[in-house]
Amino acid sequence: MTAKPLNIYDLTRPELSDLLVSLGVNPAHTGRVWRYLYWECVQQFSAMEAVPARVRAALASHATLGVLPTTLETDSSDGYTRKYLLGLHDDERIETVLMRFTGRVTACISSQVGCAMGCVFCATGQMGYTRHLTVGEIVAQAVHVQRTLRAENHRLRNIVLMGMGEPLHNFDAVMKAIDICTDGTGLGLAADRITLSTVGVVPGILRLAREQRKAFHLAVSLHAATQAERAAIVPAARKWPLDELMAACRTYSETTGRRIFYEWTLIEGKNDSPEHARAVGRLLDDLPAQVNLIPLNPTQGYDGTPTRSEAARKFQDVLIHEFGIPSTVRQRRGIDIAAGCGQLAVAEKQGLGF
Ligand code: SF4
Repeated sequence: MTAKPLNIYDLTRPELSDLLVSLGVNPAHTGRVWRYLYWECVQQFSAMEAVPARVRAALASHATLGVLPTTLETDSSDGYTRKYLLGLHDDERIETVLMRFTGRVTACISSQVGCAMGCVFCATGQMGYTRHLTVGEIVAQAVHVQRTLRAENHRLRNIVLMGMGEPLHNFDAVMKAIDICTDGTGLGLAADRITLSTVGVVPGILRLAREQRKAFHLAVSLHAATQAERAAIVPAARKWPLDELMAACRTYSETTGRRIFYEWTLIEGKNDSPEHARAVGRLLDDLPAQVNLIPLNPTQGYDGTPTRSEAARKFQDVLIHEFGIPSTVRQRRGIDIAAGCGQLAVAEKQGLGF
């Protein structure tokens, strides 16, 4: 069996330097190669023109440059959202989304092919789990978006790990990818411009608390404030019950001193009443918290509908006026291109036209 070729995007900067040394190359070339990878976003070693040809040849003979080809690209009708379906070496597909908010450009990145968590309203959850992404496959998505932005004289400033997959289920690869994306001489993202969203993988949250990682934001998807209601929407809650999740969140906030964003998908008639808002308020009352309200993104496999804006506003009023908890209602972008995670990949598998 031949060994899998090394993907250069798998490497941190010190590891790239070690690779060069192992190839008999002066590690002084590390900075230039790194800049071509993450600043110029080249797609072939041969495009690293200022790197000596023998260095490029040595790299090309021992590693691949794991650029992910675009198999489908769609722009939302409002022009704010672009969704990429990217191909992997094993013919799997993942989604990456470029979102343009006012003064803010964000890449939404996947961490797995499919997802094992099975949230009932989520197209990726409906697909099931296929495999973890490698470090390089996660990093390559950020580079893909940066390449687009660079052509427009912009830079990628924000990443949300809210695409396909549960990031804390693929903990080590995701953490290393964050380290690479925050390297100041490459993509150079500030850690506090990265948000990792988890459905509530308790061991992962506790590990984050223990390891005192870079100061990225943590978002925890709640969607319900009682164990029974939550388990009906988020099957992972049967493994990590609500009381254990909240204890882990408390430990995380106490240990790191950081506020957690709690995500709440608003589903009409299901979890969007003022009484539901009071239940959230009681749950988060003494925790450093912000609630992000996200009107449901409709998917084929779930018959719920999104909460209307008036009910969302009432929900917010309860949180702020009765509990002093700040909240936002997430703008729904890219609905016409199925920008909810997993929707485009499912549509492609089913041969639906997007
Ligand atoms: S919402 Fe996130 S955690 Fe839940 S199934 Fe979808 S991708 Fe997985």
